[in-house]
Amino acid sequence: MLHEDFKQRVLEEIDRNADHLIAVGERIYRDPELGFKEFRTSKIVAQEFDRLKLGYEEGIAITGLKTIAQRPGGGSGPTVGVIGELDSVLVSDHEFANAETGAAHCCGHNAQLMTMLGVANGLINSGVLSELDGRVAFFAMPAEEYVEIDYRVELRDKGETEFLGGKSEMIRLGAFDDVDMAMMVHGASNQNMQARAGISASNNGFVGKQAKFIGKAAHAGGAPHRGINSLYMAQLALSAINAQRETFKDDDTVRIHPILTRGGDLVNVIPNDVRFETMIRGKTADAINDASFKVDRALRSGAVAMGGKVEITTLPGYMPLFNDPDMSRLFKDNFLTFHGEDDWEDTGHRTGSTDMGDIAHIMPALHPHVAGFSGTGHGTDWAIDDKYMAYVFPAKLMAMTVIDLLADGATAAKELLANHTPVMTKDEYLTFMRSNARKESFDGSAVGPL
Ligand SMILES: [Zn+2]
Ligand SMILES: [Zn+2]
Repeated sequence: MLHEDFKQRVLEEIDRNADHLIAVGERIYRDPELGFKEFRTSKIVAQEFDRLKLGYEEGIAITGLKTIAQRPGGGSGPTVGVIGELDSVLVSDHEFANAETGAAHCCGHNAQLMTMLGVANGLINSGVLSELDGRVAFFAMPAEEYVEIDYRVELRDKGETEFLGGKSEMIRLGAFDDVDMAMMVHGASNQNMQARAGISASNNGFVGKQAKFIGKAAHAGGAPHRGINSLYMAQLALSAINAQRETFKDDDTVRIHPILTRGGDLVNVIPNDVRFETMIRGKTADAINDASFKVDRALRSGAVAMGGKVEITTLPGYMPLFNDPDMSRLFKDNFLTFHGEDDWEDTGHRTGSTDMGDIAHIMPALHPHVAGFSGTGHGTDWAIDDKYMAYVFPAKLMAMTVIDLLADGATAAKELLANHTPVMTKDEYLTFMRSNARKESFDGSAVGPL
């Protein structure tokens, strides 16, 4: 079958290029950068696009890149996006951490860039791209990890970004306007996944929340009656949040995990500035909204009880992820041409989050996991165990899936799109995200005597 012949040619091309993919991936592994600061990494991706003679847009959402590959004259079918993420996390004692910033590739995103480039290489250099009835958009995506919140709020306040995650920014800037569906592969450690590959049905989304409890300082021994204790406001708010938990439906998998980032300054002064931060995760946008408003109410309750003030900042986070069942099936079938069912793991809903969920809200999306790593994700002992599995194999699976979608008149892609109703339009998505960018100042002392 022609289709299978295309796959064979692409697989051979990816194998021919494997040493190069591994070498560049290892170079990025040793030079990690944090989100919205991935300048050196995006330069490497740009060089790789140059090598493939692909024109590209760069500097999208500060460090993002995009290119579209199509047969001469342009394919008429849908456009499939293939994504790799540019950023790393902060694990300063990892063996390849950046000495200055503490950034380290302990989430495997360096491998994702190579699998994205491996697909590009395989489809273009094998000549199979010319046989496809559609286009393939390749993305290097900034800032998947939701870290350095203060830095990102600063970027937002300066007008350089609006949202805190890379994919939201790319969507806002129109980089996905001409893309119909998208996929990527995330690496997995053998600590989290026993199988060689797998797909979860869905993932939680979240919003961010920060609060500042403003009280009144006073001598903690001599005149505590003159103070307003911010720490107690926070303590009451935490109790009120915990009291909400039984109001959440089990099926919504709400997760609220607050911390105090400032608890008081001196032991003999009544704390007057206490800071709180949390993520509020849930399975659907409605569940996240419901939990977010309950947290706001709980935060206000602390201020009311003590007669102090609270400033509440809500920050747009990531949307829940739903893996498209048709794309999942194609990807899994391709995996099964190499390995058995026992090597595959279908998991149900996962309670962590990824901004691939934002993409999944506006188009069919796929975010499987492929093994090749060991140690703890985001941990010091994270390591690449099997370079072929990490850097090369996922490129094969994605390239084969692209062929399934776009060969033979792009019938599969067209059918998939005909059967798919996006959860939100781009405009609805942006409106939802913007509704999650709020700041409220609440004065508990204004609640006077009854
Ligand atoms: Zn991560
Ligand atoms: Zn990651």
